[in-house]
Amino acid sequence: MRKCLRCDTEMVEDLDVKVEGGAYGIKITQQGIFKDNLGKFKCAVCPECGYTEIYIQDISKVRKLILKNKDK
Ligand SMILES: [Zn+2]
Repeated sequence: MRKCLRCDTEMVEDLDVKVEGGAYGIKITQQGIFKDNLGKFKCAVCPECGYTEIYIQDISKVRKLILKNKDK
């Protein structure tokens, strides 16, 4: 469960992020390391103040990224 950073209200989670006018999601990638993206964006909205937060659902790839950087 996510709580709003501003007003501590329980947020509505697992909403899809879409570019207006298209059904394309937004992707986060790191150049040269991953050919595929780091994970699908999800969005949470606070029903009280409207604060919106974007997060990555599957953080395993991001964690691997930290491990890779430590090896250098
Ligand atoms: Zn709020």
